[in-house]
Amino acid sequence: MAGTIAAFHLSAYNRVLLLDSGSVGSGATGVGAGIASPILARKGNPTYRSREALDSLEQLCDVLSLPEQSSRPLIRPAFDTKQISYYQRAASNHPDLAKWIEPGDLSERFPSVRAPLGALEVFRGRVINLPTFATALTRNATTSGCELREHTSLTSWSAKGDEVVVTIRTSNGKKESNTQDESIACRRLVLALGAGYRHFEELARLNLHPIKGQTIRASCPSILRKTPNITGPGYLAFDGDSLVLGSTFTHGVFDTEPTASATQQILDLVVPIVPDVAHATSFEATAGTRVTVPGTRLPMIGPISHSSLVNIFTGLGAKGLLMGSLIGSELDRYLRDPENIPEIMRPSVRRPASG
Ligand SMILES: Cc1cc2nc3c(=O)[nH]c(=O)nc-3n(C[C@H](O)[C@H](O)[C@H](O)COP(=O)(O)OP(=O)(O)OC[C@H]3O[C@@H](n4cnc5c(N)ncnc54)[C@H](O)[C@@H]3O)c2cc1C
Repeated sequence: MAGTIAAFHLSAYNRVLLLDSGSVGSGATGVGAGIASPILARKGNPTYRSREALDSLEQLCDVLSLPEQSSRPLIRPAFDTKQISYYQRAASNHPDLAKWIEPGDLSERFPSVRAPLGALEVFRGRVINLPTFATALTRNATTSGCELREHTSLTSWSAKGDEVVVTIRTSNGKKESNTQDESIACRRLVLALGAGYRHFEELARLNLHPIKGQTIRASCPSILRKTPNITGPGYLAFDGDSLVLGSTFTHGVFDTEPTASATQQILDLVVPIVPDVAHATSFEATAGTRVTVPGTRLPMIGPISHSSLVNIFTGLGAKGLLMGSLIGSELDRYLRDPENIPEIMRPSVRRPASG
């Protein structure tokens, strides 16, 4: 997602080459449910610059002519009395973002949902298929002249003077010997590698942290047709005729193998809220790595050395759509002058463990 957002914005004024060691829409982007919620789960606080992020996302969706979202609401059930007060406060402080729904109203509007304490209805929240989003960004970028090379990995780079020389390796088939290496000189490099940062010494020292997550796709039983999108510790999102159920959070892990125990964990979170999910069929689990920035929980963007030619764009965490769109809208400004990057998002290195 980060790479395609960058390519989309930068190709309007620059010659851009977009590389992907796999294909566009893979990585974490191929796993997420695609929920964009401007309200955080636990206390109902708004996400970082939530309204600007929503505006950026909506503008992107308009330009990309992504299909109009269904009018299915997005709700966050409350799980205890503390959360009721947090969510009621959120509704009263941010009436443009959310509204509190009393338990009686909720069961009348959404009979398939069990939320006996009530819920927060999040306005402007939406669900967008992440690979469709990334593919549409790429298509638009290529229309503006961006060149896309899939199955092509960045293997190294070196900044000299006012250019960066990158080496890339293209796989022409399944055999390891069937590869082709090439060097390319460019004016600027944007590293949007997701979990791929770990393969480069210069990036592995950055304050980044992987969190493995799993989702399940299933076909939607007709009984759930009128169910809202639900977010919280467990979530349920509608994507066309499919349901996406999520998700798990396993810290410090890069492997992306889905597991049966994570599937069970997800069902244990979702089925108590929407019991009819038990009627869904054709379950398919996938897992990926969210890259996060400990301490800030915000994206990381900016130069990784004294030279401003080599930049990282990562740390989208679980809020890829909102954070990615927000950073994308300011990326050109950030790259032209790193002083424009809010300090809290500038690259920082990991602190050594104490003791
Ligand atoms: C379980 C789960 C649920 C999620 N749910 C949501 C959600 O509901 N809403 C939301 O907004 N976000 C969600 N997210 C988060 C979202 O998926 C991520 O924030 C976002 O996709 C990250 O995008 P990225 O481009 O940084 O990384 P990735 O999508 O991982 O992309 C990295 C890309 O870099 C490529 N690459 C790596 N190394 C190299 C190299 N050396 N050379 C060339 N290419 C390379 C990879 O092939 C890959 O395509 C979820 C994530 C997970 C794991």
